[in-house]
Amino acid sequence: MRPKVKSYKQPSKLSEYPSTPAFESGHLVSKNAGWRTFKPVVDAEKCVGCLRCYLVCPDGVVARTKDNKVEIEYDFCKGCGICAHECKVEAITMVKEADEDEI
Ligand code: SF4
Ligand code: SF4
Repeated sequence: MRPKVKSYKQPSKLSEYPSTPAFESGHLVSKNAGWRTFKPVVDAEKCVGCLRCYLVCPDGVVARTKDNKVEIEYDFCKGCGICAHECKVEAITMVKEADEDEI
């Protein structure tokens, strides 16, 4: 079945585009994270805001926060772990979905 496209309002100028490459920009569609086994969890204390994870996420689901850190849009994250692998300060940990309450 073809996924439903999110409603999206085109920004009028470049500065209005959100700082996330896919989700908030309206390119992603309905939730696709249902089969994920591990999820990335960002330690905001360790994160230095380099945005490397933002650049390497193949699904564009890492978003920049106002304080120049990052957060994951879990509805669309597939749990591939690339962000955690590429974070040079080990601020991202891949956590088994069932163990989420233990951290
Ligand atoms: S790669 Fe690591 S340090 Fe850099 S923004 Fe992402 S979580 Fe923060
Ligand atoms: S686990 Fe994969 S899909 Fe999820 S935020 Fe990290 S790089 Fe993106």
